Amino acid sequence: YNAISESVVYKSHNAFNRKYPLPVGALQSIARMYAEQKELSSQLSMKRHLRSTIGDRIRMIKDPTEKQILLGEAKTLKAEITQLEENLAAAEETLLNLALQLPNDTHPDAPIGPEDAATVLSTHGPPPMPASADRDHTEVGRALALFDFESAAVVTGSSWYYLQGEAALLESALTNYAISIALKHGFKFVTTPDVVREDIASRCGFQPRDQQSSSSASQTYFIADSHPELVLSGTAEIPLAGMFANKIFPENTLPMKVVGLGRAFRAEAGSRGADTRGLYRVHQFTKVELFSVCGDDDSERIMEEFRRVQTEIFEGLGIPFRVLDMPTEELGASAFRKYDMEAWMPGRGRWGEISSTSNCTDYQARRLHIRYRRPAAPQASANGPSTYGSSQSATAFAHTLNGTAAAIPRLILALVENGARFNEEGKVVGLDLPVLFRCVLRDAF
Ligand code: AMP
Repeated sequence: YNAISESVVYKSHNAFNRKYPLPVGALQSIARMYAEQKELSSQLSMKRHLRSTIGDRIRMIKDPTEKQILLGEAKTLKAEITQLEENLAAAEETLLNLALQLPNDTHPDAPIGPEDAATVLSTHGPPPMPASADRDHTEVGRALALFDFESAAVVTGSSWYYLQGEAALLESALTNYAISIALKHGFKFVTTPDVVREDIASRCGFQPRDQQSSSSASQTYFIADSHPELVLSGTAEIPLAGMFANKIFPENTLPMKVVGLGRAFRAEAGSRGADTRGLYRVHQFTKVELFSVCGDDDSERIMEEFRRVQTEIFEGLGIPFRVLDMPTEELGASAFRKYDMEAWMPGRGRWGEISSTSNCTDYQARRLHIRYRRPAAPQASANGPSTYGSSQSATAFAHTLNGTAAAIPRLILALVENGARFNEEGKVVGLDLPVLFRCVLRDAF
């Protein structure tokens, strides 16, 4: 009981630190249902044991009267067992539904508080240049005919865009560049469906319809009447995580590392604020995403590996950027720890997020049933609630991680604002791009 109440205290403190709205009384209900489920489960084991003992006695006994009495007892027990099984299944389902409303636990080193409590872990690239409105990517883009927001507004609406000429070529160059670095580090390339079941999104920690639990409700595009169970994916993390659902992997196949390419769709209802212009916050963008399924003691190491791959990608772009350890209120439902990377955007005059990496530990794996099999687990119970199985082998919930390798519009924005070249009269005359991309673009023209 003490363990349960300690856990309730931790979970409620944790939800408070994360500013995560828990339904009133949810934790107490979980503790109560957990105790009820354990009690039902132990009653069921006891009755099953009793029934098998009586069964043995019935087989041995000769006296018909005594046998009749025992048969009566066995019949009563059978009915009790059926009832207990039903009650246990119902309790387990209630418990699961309640538990699904909780956020992940939090890494003890994560800073506590809102966005500005983030700590800077490292900075990279050239020193940031002074802020200058002349470098605003929409202005530079206009001068160099890189974007067409006006036609997109007619065709679709505001915050949609066409990339054209060098900008469109940059999209494919950046995509291939990020994928090639991930491949070099052992990631397997996957292209994903961009439409997913709402249920899979929920299990990843995005609650498309639940206005209470997260901001994902205002992020999601639904596919109206024709396919009410489907939504447009907000990130390739969802189809990538779903790819591993309901599977058990041999331990020696872990860690699995994939790099996905998908289009991300964000309704961004009510959250655009100052970002109504240009490419910073748009409704659709190409995203290259790192994803991993690993053992439950390996996710911190993989998170650092993601960070190294992302650092290599962004260093290759020659832009100033920094890595942040994100605070509790920025962790959403699923992240145990989150590192964001921000690039200096001189036209906007501030740092802007270009990538985000989350270690989701077993949060998504529990909801999607992603497990791995250890060869033998003599000390299965010592491994805590993550592990269950026989003494011969045991399955454990895996850990999952996701991280942005390239969110294209913001990379183009950062390259344009940092790379705009001006003549002596202060007129934009071109873009200074990293050598790699200059070659790609020159070849293309
Ligand atoms: P998220 O999946 O929300 O962590 O976002 C991953 C990355 O996608 C962010 O770090 C941004 O670089 C980029 N991003 C997120 N939302 C948008 C948006 N609405 N428009 C353009 N880029 C975005």
